[in-house]
Amino acid sequence: MKRQIFAPEHDAFRETVRAFLAREVLPYYEQWENDGIVSRDAWRAAGKQGLLGLAVDEEYGGGGTADFRFSAVLAEEFTRAGAPGLALGLHNDIIGPYLTGLATEEQKRRWLPGFCDGTLITAIAMTEPGAGSDLQGIRTHAEDRGEHWLLNGSKTFISNGILADLVIVVAKTTPEGGAHGLSLFVVERGMEGFERGRNLDKIGQKAQDTAELFFHDVRVPRENLLGELDGAFVHLMTNLAQERLSIAVAAIAAAEHLLEITTHYVKEREAFGRPLSSKQHIRFEIADMATECAVTRAFLDRCIEDHSRGGLDAVHASMAKWWATELQKRVADRCLQLHGGYGYMTDHPVARAFTDGRIQTIYGGTTEIMKEIIGRSLLG
Ligand SMILES: Cc1cc2nc3c(=O)[nH]c(=O)nc-3n(C[C@H](O)[C@H](O)[C@H](O)COP(=O)(O)OP(=O)(O)OC[C@H]3O[C@@H](n4cnc5c(N)ncnc54)[C@H](O)[C@@H]3O)c2cc1C
Repeated sequence: MKRQIFAPEHDAFRETVRAFLAREVLPYYEQWENDGIVSRDAWRAAGKQGLLGLAVDEEYGGGGTADFRFSAVLAEEFTRAGAPGLALGLHNDIIGPYLTGLATEEQKRRWLPGFCDGTLITAIAMTEPGAGSDLQGIRTHAEDRGEHWLLNGSKTFISNGILADLVIVVAKTTPEGGAHGLSLFVVERGMEGFERGRNLDKIGQKAQDTAELFFHDVRVPRENLLGELDGAFVHLMTNLAQERLSIAVAAIAAAEHLLEITTHYVKEREAFGRPLSSKQHIRFEIADMATECAVTRAFLDRCIEDHSRGGLDAVHASMAKWWATELQKRVADRCLQLHGGYGYMTDHPVARAFTDGRIQTIYGGTTEIMKEIIGRSLLG
């Protein structure tokens, strides 16, 4: 089925992204996987190419478009290339809206030009060793000390944790306030008392640095409070829909790509004197996956369009997230099986997609939490 949602400018952008991947990412990707981190040069190259801050106003150096379809193209192409380690989607679609939507004019002037040219890499730090799905369990706290906030606590599993120059940290500011006692602070590289822990060793997405962060009496200037005091929960809920859609977009792109590779493989590979594709079981496997991908694609493209027109609601974003990522997981497993032993070799694209993709049902809100959100909307 031909996709109807893109216009010629999106197709042209897709070509730009493909050329960027071929030139600036793929030649170095194996090295980054071994290093456990991507190079900062790639971030600067992405800035130069206009791939950062797509939704940021042009006066701060951004692309000036609120059209989410460009973000979808970026996510799709990075996924197809098997290069999730350079986390442009995290920076643009997940962290960008906090800065464009909540920052004061002074903060925008301080941070957005670097955000767009790739010199300020960003992260968002919600999760802690003792609190992930349940953000009310956060212990990191900031005390009002007049001139500044005094920040103490720790975070874990933070994407871009090692590279980040700006980290949006969720901290308790009113201990008795529960979910409504949390605020957002921008912690900057070099602030005294801000330390990074290990670059965590993961089963996939090895080129993506994921780290522990520690805050010991960090004096965060008052002007680094982001958004409303005690307003973090509302700010997070507002922005999580786009985060979830962005993960879902990558998930369906991954599933489609796996299916494409596998369809080709079963036609080429012979067993018992005939191509694998001649066996009914294999044909049904491919037919099942193709159908599930096509149905999911229709829903996802509808979500992308709705979001580009002004915002997808939290419930549909949750549906898209859990459904597409669970589909990605199933398809990755079945495609690996159809590759036999080759599918289990770490340098095979299917094996890489299997391990890289496994996190998708966990971060950005787990499948179980997505179902909670949907269930609550229907059942109270
Ligand atoms: C590679 C990677 C990158 C990440 N990047 C970031 C990042 O950049 N920033 C950030 O803040 N965090 C990040 N995370 C953290 C991620 O968002 C959390 O791991 C996730 O939200 C789950 O939290 P948890 O690990 O504490 O699991 P828990 O919340 O302890 O959950 C454990 C299990 O219990 C289930 N569960 C929990 N509550 C319920 C419930 N009410 N009903 C039913 N089941 C439930 C969960 O679904 C899960 O299956 C990242 C994690 C990884 C692994």
